[in-house]
Amino acid sequence: LHEAVVPSFARSPAALRRLLSALAVLEQRDGKLNTGSLSAVTAAQKLGGSIHAFVAGSSIKGVAEEAAKVEGIEKVIAVDNGAYDKGLPENYAPLLVENIKKGGYTHVIAGHTAFGKNLMPRVAALLDSQQISDVTNIENDKTFVRPIYAGNAIATVESSDPIKIITIRGTAFPAAPVAGGSAAVEDGVDPKAESPTEWVSEDLAKSDRPDLATAGRVVSGGRGLKSKEDFDKVMLPLADALGAAVGASRAAVDSGYADNSLQVGQTGKVVAPQLYMAVGISGAIQHLAGMKDSKVIVAINKDADAPIFQVADVGLVGDLFDKVPELTEKLSKA
Ligand code: FAD
Repeated sequence: LHEAVVPSFARSPAALRRLLSALAVLEQRDGKLNTGSLSAVTAAQKLGGSIHAFVAGSSIKGVAEEAAKVEGIEKVIAVDNGAYDKGLPENYAPLLVENIKKGGYTHVIAGHTAFGKNLMPRVAALLDSQQISDVTNIENDKTFVRPIYAGNAIATVESSDPIKIITIRGTAFPAAPVAGGSAAVEDGVDPKAESPTEWVSEDLAKSDRPDLATAGRVVSGGRGLKSKEDFDKVMLPLADALGAAVGASRAAVDSGYADNSLQVGQTGKVVAPQLYMAVGISGAIQHLAGMKDSKVIVAINKDADAPIFQVADVGLVGDLFDKVPELTEKLSKA
């Protein structure tokens, strides 16, 4: 909170907490709350003040009612308008700004997802605030921890902006459970801002496997897989034997072995599963930036000097085309 606006009588920790109010911006798709976005609520809880949640889109009532069940949320602000379904930042940012101004929030928190990364810089610019991105820890109401240089250094930053616009790394804050709460649902203000951008269509990769960003187990393949056919032949049965999501290095994606949505790393998804298995991946820093917080890292690579072995808990030096099918067979029988 900006010191200048805090009267001296209110500077005790308890009084300060009462003045803190956070807005957690939640995501929805096709009328369903994206429970992964509830990480923003967990982050807001670290501030210790009051928490409201924000949702917008068509038939938003069901989403708002689900969010209302999350313990710790005092109020859900909902805007029912199909124009916000796809989260286009051009009209969503002015919408959010109007609601931030109305609610007088000190902190606005969204996930560091495609949605949050698109939206929050515009919101920050409209409010003349300095955005604080990809936060992994909240030390107090103005001090935040975030990785820089692809995770090779950790910066602790302090903000004196009156309204802090924050995106948080989902893997650093577990999603708040949808239970135990009974928040009020209130209509938000809708400025009905015209968007110069029109939503045309989307082409989504469909998979019955677990979602990469939230899966407890991930198996990723790299350039060592040599072709798309071999990637599918080697990695998919391994994923199925473990009930794991499939990931890939950028080299594998760029070579057309795997879909772009599967990329793990600095310019892909950041994951922190219980088990991360890197197959035929060298371990470039840009790849490590997306997986090195995994609980157990297993690497299979024919080069014993590959940098991936420096972060691996379990390493297997060998030809993946022999080792992985053998492992898959043993796992399937286990
Ligand atoms: P390689 O480095 O070519 O490694 C292939 C590995 O497979 C080697 O270690 C080799 O020993 C092993 N291998 C080969 N054949 C076999 C076999 N038969 N059995 C066992 N092992 C075998 N990369 C990412 O992954 N994610 C990102 O988000 C990302 N963002 C980037 C952003 C920027 C700005 C830049 C500059 C780069 C980025 N990169 C990213 C690219 C990164 O630098 C590496 O080029 C990439 O991660 C390499 O992928 P790889 O490990 O699959 O391929």
